[in-house]
Amino acid sequence: MTTESATAPINAWQVAQHQFDLAAEMLNLDPGLRRVLREPRRELTVHFPVKMDDGSVQVYTGYRVQHNLGRGPAKGGIRYHQDVSLDEVKALAMWMTWKCAVVGIPYGGGKGGVIVDPKKLSKKELEGLSRRYFSEISVLIGPERDIPAPDVNTTPQIMAWFMDTYSMHVGYTVPGVVTGKPISLGGSEGRNEATARGCVFTIVKAAAHLGMDLKKCKVAVQGYGNAGSIAAQLMAAEGSSIIAVSDSSGGIRNMAGLDPDRVLAWKKEHGTVKGFPGAEDITNAELLVTECDILIPAAYENQITVTNASQVKAKIVAEAANGPTTPEADEILAAKGVFMIPDILANAGGVTVSYFEWVQDLNRDHWTEQDVNAKLKVIMDKAFAEVLAQSLKHKVNMRTGAYLNAVQRVADATAMRGLYP
Ligand code: NAD
Repeated sequence: MTTESATAPINAWQVAQHQFDLAAEMLNLDPGLRRVLREPRRELTVHFPVKMDDGSVQVYTGYRVQHNLGRGPAKGGIRYHQDVSLDEVKALAMWMTWKCAVVGIPYGGGKGGVIVDPKKLSKKELEGLSRRYFSEISVLIGPERDIPAPDVNTTPQIMAWFMDTYSMHVGYTVPGVVTGKPISLGGSEGRNEATARGCVFTIVKAAAHLGMDLKKCKVAVQGYGNAGSIAAQLMAAEGSSIIAVSDSSGGIRNMAGLDPDRVLAWKKEHGTVKGFPGAEDITNAELLVTECDILIPAAYENQITVTNASQVKAKIVAEAANGPTTPEADEILAAKGVFMIPDILANAGGVTVSYFEWVQDLNRDHWTEQDVNAKLKVIMDKAFAEVLAQSLKHKVNMRTGAYLNAVQRVADATAMRGLYP
């Protein structure tokens, strides 16, 4: 099956199903189980009104999808973006199922999204939209049922509104209903940095496996938000040189190295990394194929495709973003000998520390950042070793290795529970 053509847009849900099919085939999965795991368990679409500042009422569309609940409650972020679609949310929910299984945390997979460009809303409108969306999806939500978290364009403030809305409905405070909250409301130390930190833990292991000295490595990062900017800072702390970064407006490059903290300060002041003093402006397309040792896609799906994969120069691609590489591009990168750290492993640090946050909330506990980071490292290092072992054993790339581990774990749990009724 091909998921990509030169003209039609690439459908993330088809990509996700294709990746699952490959693993199911290799695992010789029972056909009935395969049919179950290939589809989401629940898909909710909501259309809801929001009162705008000018007095008008606008109607927005949002989704919450639960892919699989075999190993525990659904877990997954909520995305605010004008390009959100049901198929994208389904793909992201399925990837969450595998991600939680790869790192062995007791959750199923879920995801949500609202079709909106939040930059066009005032703070009051954003709060109104967030509270009403959360009310609408609350039929599926709960600390034992489905626990949302941040994703693209959603912040700790929005998580606080979600938590407050749910708590107002039930009449008491329920911190464990959502993760990625501000620390003052039961958020976890280290959650904000967790996705990037987990990603860097996997890069450190990959470099050691490949015999690469991170202090001599040049790194390019696509996307300079939560995952990308912090990954750049942490890679700089490992001694690597950050030579190119980008955001939705475009990118910047300086082969002698960029200071990630100063770039972040520039972005905060000017709204984009572009124009950063001493760097040349480049496009996002140029960033992906720029001369570097490590490429960290940290923006959106379908960035590395058949059109640019053969020109990627990096030796390691670490997918901080979900779904940045299409299956066809994956094959091209594998044939070139690029070491791929797949999304369901590379960015699993976020959901892992979300799990820590939930455990702390349920126990009314608060761990130190040192504790959180140490526990995260144990989980990420173990998952990396298990995926690497699987990929070496079956002579497959790391994505397939990760899928073999994840799909097997979910399939075992689903089969052991049996078919209801
Ligand atoms: P974010 O909103 O903080 O940042 C996204 C960044 O991408 C912004 O800098 C934006 O300008 C940039 N961007 C948008 N369009 C772009 C384009 N076409 N080219 C280059 N850059 C572009 O979001 P985030 O939370 O950092 O999420 C980024 C990716 O990481 C997403 O794929 C998300 O699903 C994934 N992820 C995030 C988390 C988390 O905990 N935040 C966890 C796991 C995975």
